Amino acid sequence: MVKKQIIETANTNLAIGVAIGGTRTKLGLVDLSIGKVIETLISPTEKNDSNKFLNYLCSAIEQLKEKAEKENSSIKGVSVGVSGFVFKNGMVDSTYGFLEFMEDYPLVELIENKCSITCRADNDARIVVFGEALYGMGKNHNRVLVLTLGTGLGLGFITNGKFETSLPYAHMGGHISVGHTDFKCYCGKEGCLESLVLATGIVDSAKRMGWEEKFPDLPLNVETIFKAEQNGNTIAAKIVSDFVSHLKTGIHNYINLFAPDIMVIGGGVSKGMKPYLEKLSDTEFLKPYKNYQVEIALSELDEHSGILGAAALFN
Ligand SMILES: [Zn+2]
Repeated sequence: MVKKQIIETANTNLAIGVAIGGTRTKLGLVDLSIGKVIETLISPTEKNDSNKFLNYLCSAIEQLKEKAEKENSSIKGVSVGVSGFVFKNGMVDSTYGFLEFMEDYPLVELIENKCSITCRADNDARIVVFGEALYGMGKNHNRVLVLTLGTGLGLGFITNGKFETSLPYAHMGGHISVGHTDFKCYCGKEGCLESLVLATGIVDSAKRMGWEEKFPDLPLNVETIFKAEQNGNTIAAKIVSDFVSHLKTGIHNYINLFAPDIMVIGGGVSKGMKPYLEKLSDTEFLKPYKNYQVEIALSELDEHSGILGAAALFN
């Protein structure tokens, strides 16, 4: 009788998704059959020490394994989304200083050996687009492009639920030029979309306009700037107008390259972007084909897209 109950409730379609962000590392236990995050563990991202990084991952994985075992369920494996170029064997080429120790780093091999679990890995932007295409705004669309405005600009594109290439060749897509600037992006060029539309870029733009001297009582962050713009602040209006203009130019460039059916915008900055969506959706330019239409949408999976997309590598 007891044995029968166990068989009926056991879930073998579970996987752990790991999203390594600029400030936080998030692990989630995911039920792949319904695309739901059952349990989440969050910790500050360890950027300097490989051992500390692996120790944390292993202990968090162990916690999630125990949770699954308590419910008589088992986990297929763990998938990790990480910044930069990730080879098929799970070797990370470089994260460009984002995680100091990840240079020619055998991520999958190290996790499998140290944490005794099957592991997969891919570029984080590709993993986010996988999550959006399977479980988010990209569902029911064929050509899905996702822009993540986080610590870096993530660009991922997927067609019919599959990547066009097996390796992450488009992950530097945030470094397209959208105009002239009097400062350089960290990549060495000027006018990169990535340097203009992330939270750091928006805040830098406010600083150049003297925000701190003019509004010493207002905290300098994107949320405050967006709110001030909505309340008629003229400096905030100029900052937001530049932001929208740069992002729109970037969107048009991506449309010309990928012709997506839907472009989903996620990441921290996207949270306050609803009032500007209409302006971004204006596509009065020569289209890839006559009846071409694209939907510009904000992510509704929020922080779960990376976890869900990673876990879905075990689908
Ligand atoms: Zn750049």
